[in-house]
Parts: sequence; structure tokens; C-alpha cells
Amino acid sequence: MQSTTIEWCVSKDGSPGFTWNPSTGCLGPGGTVDSPKRCQGCYAASIQARWGKTDLARGFMPEFHEGRLTEPARRRKPTAIFTCSMADLWGDWVPAKWIRAVLKVALECERHTFIFLTKNPKRYIGFGPFPHNVWIGATTRTQQEYSRAADALAEVEAAVRFVSVEPMLGRLYDLHRATPPGSGRPGWKPDWVIIGDLTRSGRPLGKAKDEWVSALTADARRHKIPVFHKDSLEARGFTSRELPGGRHA
Ligand code: SF4
Repeated sequence: MQSTTIEWCVSKDGSPGFTWNPSTGCLGPGGTVDSPKRCQGCYAASIQARWGKTDLARGFMPEFHEGRLTEPARRRKPTAIFTCSMADLWGDWVPAKWIRAVLKVALECERHTFIFLTKNPKRYIGFGPFPHNVWIGATTRTQQEYSRAADALAEVEAAVRFVSVEPMLGRLYDLHRATPPGSGRPGWKPDWVIIGDLTRSGRPLGKAKDEWVSALTADARRHKIPVFHKDSLEARGFTSRELPGGRHA
């Protein structure tokens, strides 16, 4: 585990959170071992390549690091832990036993908050309800992606279900999912929304238009959902740093 500068990963006492990577590597949404479909500009793959542990031509193949499972237990101070920042633990290719092993650690270390993020939120279904110290999130860049992710997140019980709209690549203005007719289920909205621009080498590229960010922020406010604007939007005056539970970073 190591301390992180990821601005939304903040422990309860306001100190920086940690990343923990009991699994690394990813095949990308819909990818397989024979035919990986990694996202263009994958941040995790490029970091791993920079560390020299792999190279992009060869892989970023999924691996499980059993020896790292004890790391959270060794940290006494309650910490926000972005889990598998260098992987997508919820890809369809990930063996269920890897996921169960990670969730067991979360259950045993209830002083920490374990934060997950995936591009494949339907994989959460079947592993819930999640322990009270687990937050589950989905990366959604457009309204269409959001709608699919929201349908999956609404199916699973967790203390915090959130969306990370980063990079924001299109208009996304409607966070409330109406009740499917005849389903008997209540409508659904996320517990937290993170918004960020596309960046290259840490520099914002201005892909997230001001009007899109404003519209999504306004929709979140309308539904009383906390909003976190990433640093990539700060220069344009978007400076909300809200966290779930009424906290601020
Ligand atoms: S899903 Fe995430 S980790 Fe996997 S290739 Fe895409 S950006 Fe990288």
C-alpha cells in the first residue's frame, strides 16, 4: 500500500488515502486473454509500463498478488483505500476467488474504507450486499454509459454507490433513474459524483465542456448528491470538493 495524491481518496481525518493493489493488470471492457480491449490512454497501464514492470506491447495482464493481502491489516489508522487502482478487479475475466479474497480483507479491516471503481459495474451484482466500509463506483463518461452503470449499481446494496465521470466526454445531465414500470423498485440516484476532464501528463485537455460540467453539477445539486470536481476543472472555476457523509476534502 502507498499514500496517494488522488484528490478524492481522503481518509476520515482529512489525510491522504492510500492505494492498495492485491491485483494488477486489465484486459479492458469486453476484453479476453486472447483479445484484450484496453482503453486508449489507460493511465494504470502507462504507469506500470513506466515502472518497468511490464510493457504495453506485452501486456498489463491480470495478476493476483496474494502476499499483499495482509497490507491493510498492518495499518492501524483508519484509512481510505482505493483498491486495485492498477487493475479493474471487476472485469469479467477476474476469477471470483480473487474478488472474494479482497472482500474478505475489507470485512476483516472494518476501520478502513475500501473504495472500488470499475468500468464493468454489472460484475458487482452477485457479490453484494457489501460490507458497510466498502464503496462501489463506476466510471461513466457519457449519459449512455451512466444509464447502463446506474441500472447495475441500483441492483446492489452498498453504503456508498458512486459514479466517476472522468473523463467527461459528453453531456450527462440526468442522474435520477426513474422506477422501471412495474418493477416495484424505487427510483435510484448515486451517493456521490466525481467529475473530471481528460488529461495528458497531468494537463487538462478541455474536453469536458463548461456547460456539461455545469449541467451535471446542477443536476447533482437538485438531487442533493455531493459533487467532487477534480483538479483538472479547477482553473475553470469548478471547485466543489464534497465527499459522501457531509465531508469535504
Ligand atoms: S478498464 Fe481501466 S484499467 Fe482497464 S484498460 Fe480501461 S482504463 Fe485501463
